[in-house]
Amino acid sequence: MSPIRISILGAGAMGSLFGGLLAEAGHAVELIDVNPAQIAAVRERGLLIRNDAGERRLKLPILRPQEATTQPDWLIVFTKAMHTQGALESARHLIGPQTRLLSLQNGLGNAEKLMAFADASRIAIGMTTVPADLVAPGEVHSHGESKTRVVMVDGSTAAALDKLASALDAAGLPCAVDPDAIVAIWEKVAFNVALNSLCAVTQRTVGGLGSASEGRRLAHAVASEVLAVAQAEGLAVLAQRTHATIDHALDHHGGHKPSMLQDLLAKRPTEIETLNGAVVRIAENHAIAAPRTEALYALVKMAEQSA
Ligand code: NAD
Repeated sequence: MSPIRISILGAGAMGSLFGGLLAEAGHAVELIDVNPAQIAAVRERGLLIRNDAGERRLKLPILRPQEATTQPDWLIVFTKAMHTQGALESARHLIGPQTRLLSLQNGLGNAEKLMAFADASRIAIGMTTVPADLVAPGEVHSHGESKTRVVMVDGSTAAALDKLASALDAAGLPCAVDPDAIVAIWEKVAFNVALNSLCAVTQRTVGGLGSASEGRRLAHAVASEVLAVAQAEGLAVLAQRTHATIDHALDHHGGHKPSMLQDLLAKRPTEIETLNGAVVRIAENHAIAAPRTEALYALVKMAEQSA
C-alpha cells in the first residue's frame, strides 16, 4: 500500500497511539497538539508506545497547529470533544481540497462539528474500542483486543476510507468500514453515559460501581434510557449487547477510572455535553423522558463548576 499522509489533531492518549502505530506501519504521520509537555517529550525522547506487541520508542514529528503546513490525505481528530472546534479552527489551513476528516471521538455531534470545516462527502466518523492511557508526556500504553468501525457521514462508499481502514488494520488497529458504525457509536454512548457519569458523581471506579447492587441497577437503567433515545432516532441498537458489555466492564474493569472521573479529579472540563447533554437534548426532540441521564448531567455539570 502506498503511504497515506495522516495528521493527528490532538496527540494525547488516543492520537499518539493511532499516530504512532500508523507511522510505525510506514505512513507519513504528523502529530499536532498544543500541550507543551507532550510536544517537548516527543521531540526530545520520541514517542514511547507500550502495547501487546511490546515497548518501543518512535521518532515522529509533533507540531503546534500554527507550525504545521502539510495538507494531509486524512486529518484524524482526537482532541476531547469540547476542544474539537477550537482545534479545527487553528488547523483550518491544513484542510486542503483533497483532505478528508475522521473523528473517532466518543459521544454525539462529532460529525456536525467536522461538517463546519469540510463537505460531508469528505468526512467519516466512527467508534473505537481501543483503550489508551497517556501515562506520562510522550508515553502511551494500550492493551487487549479492539475493534474500530468507520463510515462516511453521507453514507457513500469511498475508496479513501477503505484504504485508511486497511492501513489501521495493518498497523495493529483492527478496523472495518461498517454502515452500522452509527449504531456502534450510540451503543458506546449508552455505555459511557451509564458508567462515566455514574463513576464521576460517585467517585467510584468501574469495579466499585459494580460492587454495589444499586450501582449496577442504576447503570443499566441509564443505559436503557439512552438506548430508547437511539431507537427513537431510528437506530437498530441492541439492548442485550449493550447491557452485556456494561456487565462485563462492571465485573472485569475493577480499578479503571473512566475519563470523566479522571477529568473531575484533575479539575478539568469533562465530555459531559457530548454524552449525557447530547442525549438529553435529543430525547427532548422526541418528547422522551430520560430523567436519570438528565440528573447525572446536572450533577456532573455542578461538579465541574465546583472544580
Ligand atoms: P487526551 O486528553 O489524552 O488527548 C487530547 C489531546 O488533545 C491532548 O493532548 C490535548 O493537548 C490536545 N488538544 C486540546 N486542544 C487542542 C487544540 N486546540 N489543538 C490541538 N490539540 C489539542 O484524550 P484521549 O483520551 O486521547 O481522548 C480523545 C478522544 O477519544 C475523546 O473524545 C475520548 O472520549 C475518545 N476516546 C478515548 C479513549 C481512551 O481510551 N483514551 C478510547 C476511545 C475513545
